Amino acid sequence: MSRFWTDKIASLDPYVPGEQPQDKKYIKLNTNESPYSPSPKALEAMAAEVSERLRLYPDPNGVTLKNALAKSYQLEANQVFVGNGSDEVLALAFMGYFAGGKPLAFADITYSFYKVYAGLYSIEPKLIPLNDHFDIVPTDYENLDVSGVVVTNPNAPTGKALPLSDIETILKANPDVVVLVDEAYVDFGAQSAVSLINQYPNLLVVQTLSKSRALAGIRVGYALGHPDLIEGLERLKNSFNSYPIDRIALAGATAAVQDEMYLKEICDKTIATREQSVKELEALGFSIVPSATNFIFATHPDKDAEQIYLALKEQGILVRYFGKKPRIGNYLRITIGTDEEMSALTAALKTL
Ligand SMILES: *Cc1c(COP(=O)(O)O)cnc(C)c1O
Repeated sequence: MSRFWTDKIASLDPYVPGEQPQDKKYIKLNTNESPYSPSPKALEAMAAEVSERLRLYPDPNGVTLKNALAKSYQLEANQVFVGNGSDEVLALAFMGYFAGGKPLAFADITYSFYKVYAGLYSIEPKLIPLNDHFDIVPTDYENLDVSGVVVTNPNAPTGKALPLSDIETILKANPDVVVLVDEAYVDFGAQSAVSLINQYPNLLVVQTLSKSRALAGIRVGYALGHPDLIEGLERLKNSFNSYPIDRIALAGATAAVQDEMYLKEICDKTIATREQSVKELEALGFSIVPSATNFIFATHPDKDAEQIYLALKEQGILVRYFGKKPRIGNYLRITIGTDEEMSALTAALKTL
């Protein structure tokens, strides 16, 4: 607390990221990073960009990256917005589309950053409970009096996916506000809403290079939607920071988006490891929520999640424990690592 702080600063409840400990080498299964290297083509493109050209500002519009994304999703470049991580894209979308005075609808159990942005922009959250199976119930999103809707598909930290027909139900029920679909994990097995963009001018799909493309370190995310929605985001971005993506990140992100074979290869590996890990953890008595992501949400009927988290940390394995929260207080979120890392996890769990 400082006497220079405004009431606004004092009122904030900032996001707390998963641990990134520097004290020793852990098997990191706590922040949903990829265990695999980024595309070799992306690494090459970034190395080539480390040159005298770094004295120049990057392209403020990120045109090469927008073109690569547009091509990959069969959209026009003016349907693509790029930002410094999807967190930044989300922050701009909240500021631009959801700060209109009415509450913003999102699930009671979802990405915890939404509440933080809501606090930052004085938006009242309208929390819509998941059902007892951790499903989003689309009909709960009808007849809302809200500034917008955020749906995470697949959801985090549960890992559960919604079929496209359910996303469509939510879009149809909310034609006068923006429905933001956060697809951070969609490449690991859910249906993307990108195919609905040309039909629904209120749809904004947000994705990231941090998870499936193994590039959390360069901070690139993007939004896909109607050109008018994208233009709104551009106006905000150019009123805040006109160069959010540096030259090295632009080069790496563009090459990564173009390397679709590599994306498929590492996603397929992660999915295969996930299915194997689910079997092994179930054999140890864990109950696992069906996952369409690169993590699993697990609980054990006779063991305390916090104790497991602490014991694993002791053995050099980090998983995510969210604290004694309602409904999910006895769950752990475990990122899918390599086969070797997951074997180390099951071996450690057996000793507990
Ligand atoms: C990881 C994550 C993000 C943030 O991704 P960045 O692009 O790294 O900022 C956004 N939404 C969800 C649901 C996530 O899990």
